[in-house]
Amino acid sequence: MSILVVGSAALDTVETPFGSVEDALGGSAIYFSAAASYFAPVNLVAVVGDDFPREQIEFLKKKNVDFSGLEVANGKTFRWGGKYGFDLNERDTLFTHLNVFEKFEPKIPDSYKNSEYIFLANIGPDLQMDVLKQIQAPKLVALDTMNYWIGGNLPALRETLKRVDVLIINDSEVRQLANEANLVKASKIVQEMGPKTLIIKKGEHGALLITRNSFFWAPAYPLEIIYDPTGAGDTFAGGFMGYMARSDDISIDNLKRAVVFGSAMASFCVEKFSLERLKNLSDEEIRTRFKEFWQMTNFDPNV
Ligand code: AMP
Repeated sequence: MSILVVGSAALDTVETPFGSVEDALGGSAIYFSAAASYFAPVNLVAVVGDDFPREQIEFLKKKNVDFSGLEVANGKTFRWGGKYGFDLNERDTLFTHLNVFEKFEPKIPDSYKNSEYIFLANIGPDLQMDVLKQIQAPKLVALDTMNYWIGGNLPALRETLKRVDVLIINDSEVRQLANEANLVKASKIVQEMGPKTLIIKKGEHGALLITRNSFFWAPAYPLEIIYDPTGAGDTFAGGFMGYMARSDDISIDNLKRAVVFGSAMASFCVEKFSLERLKNLSDEEIRTRFKEFWQMTNFDPNV
């Protein structure tokens, strides 16, 4: 099964305690595609400017990512700048230059309209809704959003959430969306808004999967050095949706495996700057890390 992703394609300028990059390949749709393409073909819809260094996405074209939905508009590519301190869970956004992204109106190519697995990366909720209206019969719709939209366009976000199956969001955003501090209560409130499955990302503390009647927790992989956390959330979503689309099975056991594949892919992402580490992973590396998660969380309950 192929996946449709709609989101940003960007040039990122990032500074961490371990180094910096300028105008490096980034954007939510790009990180997502790099991770998901290890599992299933990806159809990408995004916009870039005429300054976009197209040779930088060649590696994705070779890995089953279809760029027929990439619009090249007159003007500059979206640019984002961020800076991390020693607590890599915290970051300051230094600048957001929307450029051609400001007028982005996602147009879904006809060949993508029968997509079954959809990931609506972090863009305005009204645009996310426009995408859904163009899709015929989705099987699994996942959505990411951020505090900016929860605070700035809640009515549109609530309308869009009615059509979403899986909300992938971080802990402070769930609290803000539900207006409730307790995560368990907040999740129930958000489930009433539409998505029956929530994945709450907690950075270096892992990710929580909450369905109507179950909880599952996956830790973050214990890495000694994290160079650049940028894109970890989108990479998580790529591993998650990639595995869901490849297995085409939305049972709870499979959702759990998908959360662990998401966590494994995110752990690779942060090991280098930009998409460097996601370029040349082997299936063996991914499978080995997946199994390490199993070893880290499995214990004998017999006392
Ligand atoms: P993450 O670290 O998973 O939150 O994703 C970071 C990526 O999101 C970077 O590559 C940025 O280019 C991109 N990004 C940052 N701000 C925005 C925004 N407002 N809309 C869309 N993409 C963004």
